[in-house]
Amino acid sequence: MNDDIKLAALWLRKAQSAVVFTGAGISTESGIPDFRSPGGVWTKYRTVYFDEFCESAEARHEYWTQKVEAHTQFAEADPNIGHRTLAKWEQQGTIRGIITQNIDGLHQLAGSREVMELHGTAREVYCLDCAAHFPVDPFVEQFRETNEVPLCPECGDGRLKHATISFGQSLPERLLQLAYQWCWEADVILSIGSSLVVYPAAGLPEVGKRRGAKLVIVNRDPTGLDEIADILLPGSCGEALAAIDEEI
Ligand code: NAD
Ligand code: ZN
Repeated sequence: MNDDIKLAALWLRKAQSAVVFTGAGISTESGIPDFRSPGGVWTKYRTVYFDEFCESAEARHEYWTQKVEAHTQFAEADPNIGHRTLAKWEQQGTIRGIITQNIDGLHQLAGSREVMELHGTAREVYCLDCAAHFPVDPFVEQFRETNEVPLCPECGDGRLKHATISFGQSLPERLLQLAYQWCWEADVILSIGSSLVVYPAAGLPEVGKRRGAKLVIVNRDPTGLDEIADILLPGSCGEALAAIDEEI
């Protein structure tokens, strides 16, 4: 384990283009449950598909009820040592940036700038009808007070949705292509806190590895890409990142 930490640090130090891929596991130490945790907001409610959201006022109300409850967790969460370490690595030029599946915005709050949010962000809403974007907080407040789905202040009655990718919605094509390019060009890929089973996102570290990058996986449980990893660090994301940082 110690040798693996040292080797991962050595690869990162020598890398020309190290890319970090993160999932929900890096944020659990900030108090945001991951996808599979029992009792998490994500497991408690039924899924509202994108088509339903577009077509049904009842589905939009269900969606907003769920999102407003989840919002409390995001709003109260602070970046942890894992997020902060990655922000520092970007500043000192150790990594090129982060591709994340997370929607919590904690990488940016920690100071990271090069962040690709594949699944969007829960810190904004946007209008499906006129495409205007707004910070999420006032609309969450409004829903809490009125229990009515807020409408777009820009066009008057547009349908407002969180700026995250819903089930049934495809990932933004240009962003995904850029993410693939980063992995294609990477010599080290560090995957942190993702079960690496949700495609197409999980295919990114895989593509990098097949192109010759070293693949380092930090995750508490087994992942979909353990078989092809060069180094596996099972355990806490925060502890592993702090340990690697000490060696760098
Ligand atoms: P996932 O739930 O499928 O996998 C998370 C992985 O992290 C698990 O394998 C778990 O073993 C591991 N993990 C949890 N806590 C850890 C810790 N402290 N240290 C090390 N490993 C830990 O999540 P996913 O693969 O990222 O996919 C779920 C999807 O749901 C995401 O794509 C995202 O869009 C959404 N989601 C986002 C958030 C967020 O933004 N924080 C939270 C939950 C779900
Ligand atoms: Zn609008």
